Amino acid sequence: MKNKKKKQYNLPPNGLNKEELLLKMNSYRQQDAKWQDGKAFALVYYPGDTYAERVKAAYNMFFSENALNPTAFPSLRQFEGEVVKIMANLLGGNEETTGNMTSGGTDSILMAVHTAKEWAKINKPNITQPEIIVAESAHPAFQKAGHYLDIKVNVISVNAQFELDVMAMKRTITPSTIMLVGSAPSYPHGIMDPIEKIAQLAQQNNILCHVDACVGGCLLPFIEKLGYEIPPYNFTVEGVTSMSADLHKYGYAAKGASVVLYKNRALRKLQYFVYTGWTGGIYASPTAGGTRPGGAIAAAWAALHGIGENGYLEMARITLAATQTIKNAIENMEGLHIVGQPCMSLLAFGADDGINIFDVADELHLKGWHFDRNQNPAGIHLTVSQIHQHTAHQFVIDLQEAVAKAKKLSWTKISNSLQVGLVNQLKKVLPEGSIAKIQAKTAGSGAATSKRTAAMYGMMGALQGSGELDDIVLDFMDKLTSLE
Ligand SMILES: *Cc1c(COP(=O)(O)O)cnc(C)c1O
Repeated sequence: MKNKKKKQYNLPPNGLNKEELLLKMNSYRQQDAKWQDGKAFALVYYPGDTYAERVKAAYNMFFSENALNPTAFPSLRQFEGEVVKIMANLLGGNEETTGNMTSGGTDSILMAVHTAKEWAKINKPNITQPEIIVAESAHPAFQKAGHYLDIKVNVISVNAQFELDVMAMKRTITPSTIMLVGSAPSYPHGIMDPIEKIAQLAQQNNILCHVDACVGGCLLPFIEKLGYEIPPYNFTVEGVTSMSADLHKYGYAAKGASVVLYKNRALRKLQYFVYTGWTGGIYASPTAGGTRPGGAIAAAWAALHGIGENGYLEMARITLAATQTIKNAIENMEGLHIVGQPCMSLLAFGADDGINIFDVADELHLKGWHFDRNQNPAGIHLTVSQIHQHTAHQFVIDLQEAVAKAKKLSWTKISNSLQVGLVNQLKKVLPEGSIAKIQAKTAGSGAATSKRTAAMYGMMGALQGSGELDDIVLDFMDKLTSLE
């Protein structure tokens, strides 16, 4: 390490031309997840070339425009207004329902929690430390919002069906609770929370109810139109006061597009920020960002209008068929099981005793598949979309092989349990913070880049709740977001 020259990253004196740039950038993307081959079950939602070209053209057309000041660009104001209206209609809203576009699901959730806090200042003035209640399967964006806004986030468990446990939610409500949250569906298992019961509980306690349809909002309406039974989850449910829905997931828009919707304008107004004392003039902004990207807003409008109802229906049909192929195969495969009853195209599966699901995950990873890994319970998580119509069968074949291999991998099992056991022992005798330091030291030595991660996930499980895991992950993030 001593003699290794540090790579320099300098601003080139003169700009590279387009060809040079693209060539260089292509070399950077060699190790990226191969989503174009339909091998990524996370992060990317692609509608196929024809629709994507339309959306990209819209993005480029409004590359420079800024929605910070809606009076300067009536086009963007119109696009945003129409996107909000269309989403409100799809999600059971009425003339009163309103909202804004945001940069993504986390942003929408941050806004909804902020609005709840402002609402409570007026309607529950005695509360000094506001609280919200979410299930352990709710997206971490609620934790993030709580962290940023100083709101206590009470986490309740899911029931045996992996749905939010309404009785537990009821028990957790205190005089300081301002909002209840349900997911439609949850990301980890793709399971619908009992929205009607949650909304009813909110009404009984005179508090707000947010439905997180970030991942479901652009797919569930079409699944319902195809004739599938979906329990009520949107503004048609009495008591639901806000919703979040991402256009950049199953809306197949460009990244940076979501909506936060409110039951009425009075509620939305609480979200807005105004500062009239600035030397630069009167400043008003609807969401967390200042400058708001014209491209992403235009692209969301273009996705809705360029794909249209029949386009979305067809993609929903294809998506569910691919999901069914994978689900059937897992259900019939010895040693695997689906977690709960997923309601659309997100699913998680685990392994029975004798197979480590993270060994299965490692085998699949070696074959080029990309997906998330769940914990509590350990599992593999898939987000299926229309692109997987071409690869669902291959995935099933590779999964069969991966399971067969994982069954034979008894040596990793022994070494994993040894390592996990070792960490558990070490935890008891080492001083606070030391495991994080050890991890930080070893992370640079190549261990972190190993393709086999089952042992690491086992150790993370052992470290949970000790506070050490947070440190390790923070160190890891710090490394990931630095170049050296
Ligand atoms: C994706 C997702 C979010 C967060 O959205 P981002 O766009 O990643 O910020 C929130 N909730 C659910 C259920 C999601 O699937």
